[in-house]
Amino acid sequence: MSHAPLPFEGTVPDIPFLIGGSRTGSDSDEWIEVHSPGHKGTVLARVPRGNAVDADRAVAAARAAFPEWSGRHFNDRSRPLLAIADALQAAAEELAVLVSWETGNALRTQSRGEAMALAAITRYYAGVAGEFKGLTLPAGAGQLSYTQREPLGVVAAIIPWNSPLIIAIVKIVSAIVAGNTLVLKTAEDAPLAVLRLGEIVAEHLPAGVVNVVSGYGAEIGEALVQHPGVAKVSFTGSSAVGTHIAEAAGSRLAHYSLELGGKSPNIVFPDAVNDETLNGILGAMRFTRQGQSCTAGSRLLVHESVYDDVMNGLVDRVSALKVGDPLDEATDMGAIINKKQFDRVLSYMDEGNAQKGIQVPLRGEAVSPGGQEGFYLSPTIFGAVDNSWRIAQEEIFGPVLVAIPWKDREDAIRLANETHYGLAAYIWTQNLDDAVQTANRIDAGWIQVNQGGGQMLGQTYGGYKNSGIGRENSLEGTIEAFTQVKQINIKLG
Ligand code: NAD
Repeated sequence: MSHAPLPFEGTVPDIPFLIGGSRTGSDSDEWIEVHSPGHKGTVLARVPRGNAVDADRAVAAARAAFPEWSGRHFNDRSRPLLAIADALQAAAEELAVLVSWETGNALRTQSRGEAMALAAITRYYAGVAGEFKGLTLPAGAGQLSYTQREPLGVVAAIIPWNSPLIIAIVKIVSAIVAGNTLVLKTAEDAPLAVLRLGEIVAEHLPAGVVNVVSGYGAEIGEALVQHPGVAKVSFTGSSAVGTHIAEAAGSRLAHYSLELGGKSPNIVFPDAVNDETLNGILGAMRFTRQGQSCTAGSRLLVHESVYDDVMNGLVDRVSALKVGDPLDEATDMGAIINKKQFDRVLSYMDEGNAQKGIQVPLRGEAVSPGGQEGFYLSPTIFGAVDNSWRIAQEEIFGPVLVAIPWKDREDAIRLANETHYGLAAYIWTQNLDDAVQTANRIDAGWIQVNQGGGQMLGQTYGGYKNSGIGRENSLEGTIEAFTQVKQINIKLG
């Protein structure tokens, strides 16, 4: 099967990283190949294999840029962000195509929307630049007693591959609008679009305010987390690596925030079975991102009286999704990110298929759509699942939905909360009492009622329990996350 033209006109270029406004290779002079998960054997480009020396260089550049950038009037930090937003808007299609190639996410259903959101996110943060205000204490006529919010310093941002552009831009602009400077480490599997984004962003900023590097987590990632010049680590990724980062950054008393994994419930009440709900559940499961989303509603908790109707409606819809080449406009679901993740998801599918008492209304498998070889999986729905099984407890990060029936609201809330995770939850009901009481009692940081879409501009986002610490995407996601408070007391007279 033929596919869209390669992003770099058929060549395999070396794409440098960005330190102090210069495009540079790694001190190691080693390079990492970036593969297309949807096109077996296709190398897209190579990026530098960053190491501890590069971490030092990047942190030094960010530190050098900090005094001038942090000392600016807020309006002089806001204005370049508006210019960045315009530039990102103009580059949206280029970024969408690039991120689709390297992530395997479908261009039409995922990557285009991701790239189009970047400008709006940047404008939102440009708009909050004047909100970093302090407070004055009524301390009596003889005292002036006030607080001010100050930036932390150099932020190290570490990101995953699943929605790399959005995660990168949120971290970059929410950190720098508060006066910090930043070093961002891209994900091994999807560095290209973010390196390009970094280039676009940096064109409108003084050298060193934003630096973007590439390489392995255990090498340049670890070096950044351990670096004494890094004031805060802002991490998005797995709970396992997040736990390690909390220990490493915490042990040297650096700030950190963690956006981690999930196993989020989709709770369906008996009064909500209609087309809108079924389509919303499909959206919440993020099948069109092959289920590779932290907020995927991957545990479907359905009232027993409507269980069969919901399962039938979902099987019809999910089996109609077209798995195919990510760059093909007809594709709904693209490829899984890499061989390791592909094998991992397949092993959960095998485990489910072999589970005693399970139902398999939709059996997924490895496929080669139209003869295209890559890491393609068709979606799976497991039914009659016990919430204690591994497939119901562990984040599969693939197109695997597990369905569990429940009897009453208490039962649904108990099942929803019986997980180490607490990122998102989706509630489907027309009954206000059920909606509010359930939302109040679910231990998760981001709850949607009668909608399955993604995060919305300005809304607070972050996890309870093992899904994270700290908040992003909102006013407190920049003010609380990227400043510290200083109390100043002046004796008058
Ligand atoms: P991962 O934890 O394996 O890697 C994330 C990043 O951490 C990568 O850049 C990696 O190189 C780096 N890293 C790995 N080891 C490191 C170390 N010792 N020191 C410093 N950096 C290190 O995660 P992944 O497989 O890339 O992404 C999938 C995970 O991300 C899933 O668990 C998903 O739920 C989670 N995620 C969470 C959110 C959220 O907002 N909560 C969003 C997207 C993805």
